[in-house]
Amino acid sequence: MGNLLKFTDGTEMPIGVMYCIGQNYALHAKEMGSTVPSEPIVFIKPPSSYVEDAELIKLPDFSNSIHHEVELVVVIGKGTDSEINTNYEDYIAGFAVGIDLTLRDIQKKAKEKGHPWAVAKGFYKSAPISNVVPIANTDKRTFGLELYVNNELRQKGNTKDMERDIETLIKYISKVFSLRRGDVIFTGTPEGVAEIKSGDTVVAKLDDLATINVKAE
Ligand code: ZN
Repeated sequence: MGNLLKFTDGTEMPIGVMYCIGQNYALHAKEMGSTVPSEPIVFIKPPSSYVEDAELIKLPDFSNSIHHEVELVVVIGKGTDSEINTNYEDYIAGFAVGIDLTLRDIQKKAKEKGHPWAVAKGFYKSAPISNVVPIANTDKRTFGLELYVNNELRQKGNTKDMERDIETLIKYISKVFSLRRGDVIFTGTPEGVAEIKSGDTVVAKLDDLATINVKAE
């Protein structure tokens, strides 16, 4: 029952709130039959949904359609009660790759009824996150994303295609919620989301910087 984010330099940080952004890539919004929303869609996963690298994930038996969404995860290293207006990078501890596991059938029903997405998005072990690359160790601010299921490439994208970039998202979330050390932001998925079945091995990559590997049970 780990709740510590692991950094590639060996340090650790207790995970806080996981903020997640919906439909932040135009082609993913389109494959969901939607368009990029005029205001960010934000939802939250509880800390218990966090999954470390090389863990076994028990797929919930109350859904028949569990989807993978590969995403850049931004880890917050410094809290603030104020809206961040300048120097947004000062608040970033590092970058990781995450998989926003989604119960698509339950989410679809929730959307139809105007209900929250908490069950569809925040169930136990719905948030695998790789080791975190400290911001001091990379000059990159845009990243390539890839996701493989059983060694087959399912998703390939680049965060340069995000409709709202890291700076915009940090400023928005700090204004609405404030931010705390250990909070993370799932920044949305590119196109190519699809189902995961029991027995599948899922590997997600952030360029050659970080990888997460989980097996579905
Ligand atoms: Zn997502």
